[in-house]
Amino acid sequence: MGKLWTCPYCVHDCTLGTEDIIRFSSRNQVSKEYGYYQVELTIIVCPNPECRKQIISLAIHEANIVTGTTGKRLYSWQLEPESNQKPWPDYIPLQLRNDYSEACLIQTKSPKASATLSRRCIQGMIRDFWGIQKGRLVDEVNELHTRVDSATWEAIDSVRKVGNIGAHMEKDVNLIIDVEPEEAGLLIWLIETLFKDWYVARDEKQKRMSKLKELAQSKTSLKSNSQQKT
Ligand SMILES: [Zn+2]
Repeated sequence: MGKLWTCPYCVHDCTLGTEDIIRFSSRNQVSKEYGYYQVELTIIVCPNPECRKQIISLAIHEANIVTGTTGKRLYSWQLEPESNQKPWPDYIPLQLRNDYSEACLIQTKSPKASATLSRRCIQGMIRDFWGIQKGRLVDEVNELHTRVDSATWEAIDSVRKVGNIGAHMEKDVNLIIDVEPEEAGLLIWLIETLFKDWYVARDEKQKRMSKLKELAQSKTSLKSNSQQKT
């Protein structure tokens, strides 16, 4: 059995076969203190015939030269694509997609900056999607309270609190609250969820509604045609 995998480019769930994963592996002594390293470059070619993009990653493991086994993983990097950001349709405003994309790119290098971008993206969504413009984010989030489910609202309200760190920095330079890469990742996940729940769901609903309208219209014209004949 191959392994289940989601392509970061086409977002298709695929089963990877051995022919889809190409490994370049090398083992060498680094120094007396560091011992032997096993370096592995992995290229996955997406099995989806419409995609066929390549995903490249590099990993370094401890290696035991006596037993010939690979030990614990010391480093790993995803080289291509630079982040696991997902593609989004054009009907989501470009500014929001750009903030999301940048937040993904710097998630591990600068989680604090990533969280600030995520907060701006979520604020932009509240303004664009819900048409709420109050100036202060706290008022906008309060206004949102009656319009979304309570789990979503609480998540957004906690992002507002995390994002406030950046806004208060000038007032108290000694106040440093760190954002971990995992936390920055949670904010990115929230953006993806809201993109899906708000924009993508609205678009799908609109498409179904117009299909239904077309169906009703074609039935009506069929009916009037048959009435004319009799
Ligand atoms: Zn793909």
